[in-house]
Amino acid sequence: MRTRVILGATALLLGLPLLGACSTSPSASESSEGKVNIVAAFYPLQYAASHVGGSAVSVTNLTSPGVEPHDLELSAAQVAEISSADLVLYVKGFQPAVDDAIAQEAADRAIDVSADLKLLSGTEGTDPHVWLDPANMSAIGKSIATRLAAIDPAAASTFTSGSDSLTSAMTALTREYKTALSSCTSNKLVVSHDAFGYLAKAFGFTQVGISGLNPEAEPSPARMRDVATVVRDNKVSTIYYETLVDPKVAETLAAETGAQAAKLDPLEGLVAGSTGDYLSVMKENLATLKVGQQCS
Ligand SMILES: [Zn+2]
Repeated sequence: MRTRVILGATALLLGLPLLGACSTSPSASESSEGKVNIVAAFYPLQYAASHVGGSAVSVTNLTSPGVEPHDLELSAAQVAEISSADLVLYVKGFQPAVDDAIAQEAADRAIDVSADLKLLSGTEGTDPHVWLDPANMSAIGKSIATRLAAIDPAAASTFTSGSDSLTSAMTALTREYKTALSSCTSNKLVVSHDAFGYLAKAFGFTQVGISGLNPEAEPSPARMRDVATVVRDNKVSTIYYETLVDPKVAETLAAETGAQAAKLDPLEGLVAGSTGDYLSVMKENLATLKVGQQCS
């Protein structure tokens, strides 16, 4: 032991690489030692996995903060992470590069968290934005817990209590939403892309997306006119833009129709440098909706 410490210190002084486990930074290897190594495709799955797994797991997110996860491209290092993970969490059909890497590298170690959920269909296929209904987050937590218990039976009670605590938090959040949004003047939810279908369905709104399921798609002039008509006919007071997508289209439409523009976060990722999490962002969204939908 002592010899190794001395050798290690010498190697550090000389800038030499150490062998084996010591070749990665000591803190990284210590922190993931003995833990289930989970790769989450994007933020809400990282949140669910961390909540359920607690100190028994180490979670990596493929989508960095500030990056829009639709059409994420993977580096070779990230494909290697997928290939060596104990468990990979993703939503099939949301990020094609992730789907491909999983099919090739981790087909037997991945969970499509949307597989057991009741999915909505959008204009361009199945709507992948399941995480915006907190009830779906509970269900996702439960399927993660079941799989983790099979991977690491010794930590099964950690996973059960993590999943129970996630469910309590999500149930409370749903109750808070239902109470705050029970009586609103506007039931049209006009958003920059169709990310809020599950939220709209859970809380009694009809989603009107400017750009469809993919935020990068440029809306046609005809689509802009149609949405402007919906806004005027329904006296919609607020058009929502997103955190990770250019707000220009929503702002243009707001200016054209005399509506306000406000930020509603689809939680596809956290903003770079954010200190918030799924729960805090969902609570901010609720405050925004309460004003924007004119709820009493
Ligand atoms: Zn989206």
